[in-house]
This record gives sequence, C-alpha cells and structure tokens, in this order.
Amino acid sequence: MATQTASTPQSVAVIGGGINGLCSAWQLALRGARVTLYERGELMRETSCSSSKMLHGGVRYLENFEIRLVYEALHERAWWLRHCPQLCHEMRVIMPVYKGGPRPKWMLQIGLKLYDLLAGKQNLTPHQWLDRDQLLTRDPDLKPDRLQGGFCYSDGLMDDYKLGMWVAGQAREAGVEIIERAAVQTIGTDGLVTLEHDSRRFDAIANVAGPWSEQLLKRSGISSKMHLDLIRGSHILFDGEPSQPYLLQSEKDGRVFFVLPYHGKTLVGTTEQRQAIDEEIRASDEEIDYLLYQYNRYFNVRRTREHIIATSAGLRPLIKSAANPRKVSREYVLESQGRLLTVYGGKWTTARALGIKVADRLMD
Ligand SMILES: Cc1cc2nc3c(=O)[nH]c(=O)nc-3n(C[C@H](O)[C@H](O)[C@H](O)COP(=O)(O)OP(=O)(O)OC[C@H]3O[C@@H](n4cnc5c(N)ncnc54)[C@H](O)[C@@H]3O)c2cc1C
Repeated sequence: MATQTASTPQSVAVIGGGINGLCSAWQLALRGARVTLYERGELMRETSCSSSKMLHGGVRYLENFEIRLVYEALHERAWWLRHCPQLCHEMRVIMPVYKGGPRPKWMLQIGLKLYDLLAGKQNLTPHQWLDRDQLLTRDPDLKPDRLQGGFCYSDGLMDDYKLGMWVAGQAREAGVEIIERAAVQTIGTDGLVTLEHDSRRFDAIANVAGPWSEQLLKRSGISSKMHLDLIRGSHILFDGEPSQPYLLQSEKDGRVFFVLPYHGKTLVGTTEQRQAIDEEIRASDEEIDYLLYQYNRYFNVRRTREHIIATSAGLRPLIKSAANPRKVSREYVLESQGRLLTVYGGKWTTARALGIKVADRLMD
C-alpha cells in the first residue's frame, strides 16, 4: 500500500462500471483509496461486452503510427493471458493475401514483424507465412481465386463479460464498494457527486463513463478541451465455429474485419459508423448487409440474413482526431480539473494500464 500524504485523496468516486471504470476502481483501491463505484445499470453491460473479444495490440493501428498504444496493448495482452488463463487464450489468426488486395504482402510482413518486435519478451508465437495450398488444406471453404497465401499471427481471445466480472471480483476484494442501478446526475470539480435522491462529497472523482463521460460533463456544466467521437461497431453471429480465426480486408475501403470462433459460434465484425450519444446503439440494416457482403467475398458457403442468430453493437468512445473513422486515434487521454479526472477513450485490452494511470494521477 502506498504511503499517503496530506493531499492524497482518501475517498474516490468512480463513475462507470465498464472495464475502464472497474480497472480504475481496482487500481485506486490497491493504492489505499476508499473507492465507491457508481454504475447506472449493471456492470459490464455496455461497450465492454460488445467488443470483438480480442486482447490485442491492434496490428492495424501500426498503419496510423500508434506505436505507443500498440506497445502498451501488446504488453497488457500478455498480462491478461498470464493472469486469467481460464477466461482468455492465445489464438492463431489467419490473414489471407490476395493478388491485387488493398495491402501488398511486403507491407503486411513489415507490420507483423514490427508487431512481434514491439511485444518483445512478452511475445506470443511469432508470425509465419503459409502458402496457398497450406491455407486451402486448412480451410477448403476459403475462396481460392487470386489467393497467394496468408500470414498466421497471434493475439488473444477473451470472454469480455466474464473477464470484466473477474476484475469486478478483484476490485471488491481490494475493498471497492460497487453500487449498481445508481445513475450519477452531476459531478463537480469540487468532488460532489449527485445522484437522484442523494449527494456525497469525495476527495476525488474519476469520470470513466466511457461514451457517456462527455455527456456527464456537459450535464454538470463543466467545459472541456477534449471531445469524444462516438463510433458504433456492430457484429453478426452465425451458428457453428469457423475453421480458424481470420483477419480479412475489405477491398472497397481497406478496412479490416474479423471472423472469429466464439463459444461455438462465428462472430463477424466490425463496422465503424458515427452516431450521436442519444441514438439507439444497435446494428443497422446497412451494417448487417456490409458484414454479410464482406463475409461472402471470402467464403464459398454463402451466408444470408437467415443464418444470423444474433447481432450486437457498441459505441467506441474515441478522441476526436480525424474525419475518417478508420483513422481516428485509439489512444486515451486523462484530463484533470480540480478534484475531477475525466478519461477519454481507452481500449479493452489496455484497461488495466489505464487504471494504473488513473491511480498514479489521483494518488501521487
Ligand atoms: C464494436 C467494438 C469492438 C471492440 N473490440 C475491441 C477488442 O476486440 N479489443 C479491445 O481491446 N477493445 C475493443 N473495443 C474497445 C473497447 O470495447 C472499449 O473501448 C471499452 O470497452 C470501453 O470501456 P469503458 O469502460 O470506457 O466504457 P463502457 O463499457 O461503455 O462503460 C461505461 C459505463 O458507464 C456507465 N455510465 C454511463 N453514464 C453513467 C452515469 N451517469 N452514472 C453511472 N454510470 C454511468 C454505463 O452504463 C457503462 O456501464 C471495441 C469497441 C467496440 C465498440
């Protein structure tokens, strides 16, 4: 436990029971803070359970030169895999390469080499090249026209909901008081948290309400230099697992999307669709059509709407930084105002590292 100085907060309110709020509360409690976490609904029921289920560095973020983020995420990937093997595991992902595809083989090769290097000693199985015959033997359903071969590389696959609830258990064990169905109405830079029928003053507040953190600030009359870009991502689910996990590229716009095995099903996603905070968060018809179209471009056995057994959608809380949703930074930023710390952004994989930074900022 850290030694506390006169200015170290004793009591901290954390707003938001997604993975970033839970990790922040957990890390604050480990530093000796008395933490109360407020969640307006139930824990882990918003963005954090609608992810692509990947504990990953994000190989595609290298294209946007997000080296710091990828480095951190690769090391955090290793942490989750090491500490929670019951809820996540390494998976070998196949990235097929087609003649005339959006990215040439040499470019993908450099990216994967850098991905392995950035993971350093924490790396999983390094990437390798598989030729066309090897790929088609592994998966006869893969379309063969113009197929050159493919890369095989490693990332982690998790049960996002259960892993988040494991973190909630760690947080409770460290002493965090978790209050669900407690919607925070306003927060103050003086440490005041107002709920519907109650208000309490804390030494510090961490606003980790994900896509809703900016809305909460606005409702509280607090202005900020940072702004969120809310980009919805949707998935569709088919019965039965694919023969292997895939990272595939859309020919039209160069986007990548995943086809992953998940609890005996096939998870296909995701999309990038800007929306406002007060719009419903659900997969639109256009997104479903897009995912079906992209899937059918790669596989012989055709899927239609009749094969979809479920859809899911979540809202990425990204920092406003680019016009093209694909180029918007996946980095996160912490902003301090008096006794209030607001988190903007934050991937699932890096939630623990983000929580440590929240604790560093509030407890040092
Ligand atoms: C489609 C999609 C796929 C993704 N895939 C991956 C992936 O594979 N790997 C990865 O690392 N990352 C992935 N991400 C990113 C990652 O899922 C998110 O960045 C992360 O889950 C955000 O977590 P959060 O805790 O900040 O937000 P949330 O999980 O949304 O949590 C915020 C919580 O705050 C609560 N809240 C809001 N307002 C209030 C209030 N006033 N009072 C009390 N509580 C409040 C909400 O109810 C919610 O529970 C993906 C994101 C999306 C959308």
